[in-house]
Amino acid sequence: MKEIFHSQLKKSRYVAVLTGAGVSAESNIPTFRGSGSNSLWKNHEVTQVACPQAWEKDPGLVWEFYNYRRKMMGDKKFNLAHKALADLEKKLQDQQKTFSLITQNIDDLHFDAGSKNVTRLHGSIWMVRCCKCGYVEKNREVPITNAFNQESSGEKNHYKVEDLPKCKQGCDGILRPNVVWFGESLSKSNINQAFLSAQNCDLFLVIGTSSLVQPASSLIQIAKSSGAKTAVINLEETVADHDADFVFHGKAGEILPELFSV
Ligand SMILES: [Zn+2]
Repeated sequence: MKEIFHSQLKKSRYVAVLTGAGVSAESNIPTFRGSGSNSLWKNHEVTQVACPQAWEKDPGLVWEFYNYRRKMMGDKKFNLAHKALADLEKKLQDQQKTFSLITQNIDDLHFDAGSKNVTRLHGSIWMVRCCKCGYVEKNREVPITNAFNQESSGEKNHYKVEDLPKCKQGCDGILRPNVVWFGESLSKSNINQAFLSAQNCDLFLVIGTSSLVQPASSLIQIAKSSGAKTAVINLEETVADHDADFVFHGKAGEILPELFSV
């Protein structure tokens, strides 16, 4: 199957890729997926912390969660899967071909690896947005403010509004993580970009995602019905497998370098 994929890749003029948590997991980034203890942070269901209702009620708790995640992600490095995708983009560009990467991951490791044409469907944990004026900026501060500069003792901390990061544009609004929370819509322009890529590509790769969540589940269908060949690369079987022209099970960090070596 690899040989057929290689010849497909060679003749493709536009390659689009969708990546998900599986790619980050290979960099040891915890994903809070599934059920049971995997989906819990300090005994909170993550879906109950990463949501607008939690922010309304207790923004300090929400920032405590994101401060923790930023701390966890801060020292993580991109892996061979990220590298293979960045190398592929460069190679295709040199051949005057098009490459676009759509990711569900918020860790920005694709950028660290050198990818350029990246659409972050769920935002970035390294960006903040002012709740008052909407200003978005990069922010790599860990801890997010000095108030969060304490080892987690396991005790219940309570952060007040004055502990939270503030907008520096003079409006004094509170900054929030610029990520898409559960119950929030993805940005229109990001969705449009993702759909355009799926429609226009001639090879669509789905990597490290179960393809259960929208719009991921639609994108492979759109690519297929627009005439693209499709490939799924994932540790385990996914619902998208039986629709795909190519299926490779295993670690993306091991499979991609081989798949792209043409
Ligand atoms: Zn502001």
